[in-house]
Amino acid sequence: MRSSPHLRPLPGDEFDVVVAGGGINGVAIARQCASAGARVLLLEQHDFCSGTTSRSTRIIHGGLRYLEHGDLALVRESLRERERLLCQWPHLVRPLQFLLALPRNGAHRALTVRAGLWLYRRLGGARTQSSAASFRNLEEALDHSRRWALFSYDDAQCEFPERLVAEWLQDAVRAGAVTRNYTRLLDVTRSGGTVIGIRARDLLTGEEFAVACKWVINATGPWASRVASDCGIALDQPLIGGVRGSHIVVPRFNGAPLSAVYSEAQDGRPFFVVPWNGQFLVGTTEVRDDGDPATTQPGDGEIAYLLASLNALFPDAGLGHDDILYAFAGVRPLPYVPELAPSAITRREFLHDHASEGARGMLSVIGGKLTTAASLARQCARRIGLRAADPQPAMIALHPADGIESSLRQWSHQVAMVAGISAESARAMAEWHGGRALCIARLAGRDRRMRATLCPHTPHLVAEAVNAFEHEQAITAADVLLRRVPVGLNGTCDDDCMHTALERLGAAMGWGEERLDDETADFFAERDRFLVKPGPGARAYPRPVPDHRAA
Ligand SMILES: Cc1cc2nc3c(=O)[nH]c(=O)nc-3n(C[C@H](O)[C@H](O)[C@H](O)COP(=O)(O)OP(=O)(O)OC[C@H]3O[C@@H](n4cnc5c(N)ncnc54)[C@H](O)[C@@H]3O)c2cc1C
Repeated sequence: MRSSPHLRPLPGDEFDVVVAGGGINGVAIARQCASAGARVLLLEQHDFCSGTTSRSTRIIHGGLRYLEHGDLALVRESLRERERLLCQWPHLVRPLQFLLALPRNGAHRALTVRAGLWLYRRLGGARTQSSAASFRNLEEALDHSRRWALFSYDDAQCEFPERLVAEWLQDAVRAGAVTRNYTRLLDVTRSGGTVIGIRARDLLTGEEFAVACKWVINATGPWASRVASDCGIALDQPLIGGVRGSHIVVPRFNGAPLSAVYSEAQDGRPFFVVPWNGQFLVGTTEVRDDGDPATTQPGDGEIAYLLASLNALFPDAGLGHDDILYAFAGVRPLPYVPELAPSAITRREFLHDHASEGARGMLSVIGGKLTTAASLARQCARRIGLRAADPQPAMIALHPADGIESSLRQWSHQVAMVAGISAESARAMAEWHGGRALCIARLAGRDRRMRATLCPHTPHLVAEAVNAFEHEQAITAADVLLRRVPVGLNGTCDDDCMHTALERLGAAMGWGEERLDDETADFFAERDRFLVKPGPGARAYPRPVPDHRAA
């Protein structure tokens, strides 16, 4: 049994705020409240960032689609947050050029789109240079039997929200928060209708404990309704109407675009093809899903729909099911509005106050996006009477004002010198760990085993994985290889690579044979629940299935 005793708070401790849920929203709230001086306990039932946050399209967007719904305030908020993330986390959040490809006989009129994009640019500014080469490349690759209108616009991408959450988590810890993964909120204790504490279970040891607190923030995303009910809150209706979204990940293909593409799927729904992690991320679907978010997986019909839509847009791709590296799904924690089609439900976030349900001092987070997690955290802090100043990142090694490329180059050079590692590994480390890369470089510099790459297909080092155990609260090998140093998301890292990574990591950590066997079995079990290799059943659905249609 694994445990990290140094992370355990003592039963009987008192906290100002207990946050349940260690996705991007819960971690952002814990970080915000702790840096405002509150004593914070953050509980996550599995690992930090193992829920919906790691199953998104990873776009930091102003929300061009929200313009269509006339939600100008949400667009403004999202664009402001996008700029903040680009400035404060330049190694993790990067500008990304999108090409919007709309069929000329489709639902969108070119003039309206042009006006919308003009407004979007006015509100958010332009960052990337629209390149004639990427336009030409896309024009040539798109289905020639249809006529297309092409437009370019800017957004941003956080290729690894797992890393953003890991960094925010460390900010929270430095500000004094007690943070525990593999610990589930079980109950909220109340006296006279007011929250006075919580009960939780350490899932590693099976021990239950109670702590006193003034506030409970239920930031469990798609789990929020069931967590509130399990805590004895009588809800008039569910807080969340879960909507599953699936992606497929494919290798570079014939006619692959040079930038991200936003277009329409075969049934006219929004469709993204995004360069990501040396591969292409293709999504998404919208399917009502009120099951356990932990076990959600893409349906065969969804996989077939995404593949058919990709091949229809890029006829030269000719991708088959065997080409799909993997597929994955997550449940959007949208507000419960059963009468609306999923695409019409607002993407705004809300704080639901449980005072009228007999739990004064308990708030539940409904909705939200990666993009707006920090502003949600500020909103939450204000609501509970805390200062809502923006916590500053601890170490800024990269200065976007100097140009992110030259800044990254200089920083990588320094990291390479300290660790005595290749320029490629130093660059990879700088991109994932920013300012913290130097501490990991020192660790790598000490020992040859630490300087080894995790496997032959990645430049990332064993030292990064060891650092995740020592300083980023990873408990299992899956926490490391799927989230803190997420080389397991690289489709070219096959099972042999992962065995190599586990063995190298085990040797550096001093694991015995039994621990290595357990870690290996648990890693593959978790990876295969999350990243699904499509089975032969997926071929049975040559056309999109109707329940993915937007109304
Ligand atoms: C397909 C898809 C694509 C998306 N694309 C984008 C995008 O491109 N850009 C964007 O900005 N947003 C996107 N989103 C939205 C965004 O991913 C989510 O809104 C966001 O990640 C929600 O974060 P969260 O922290 O609220 O929930 P989660 O990340 O799900 O975290 C909730 C956590 O609570 C934990 N938990 C549950 N019960 C308990 C308990 N009893 N005790 C303790 N912990 C508990 C869970 O284990 C989980 O880790 C997308 C979402 C989906 C599904």
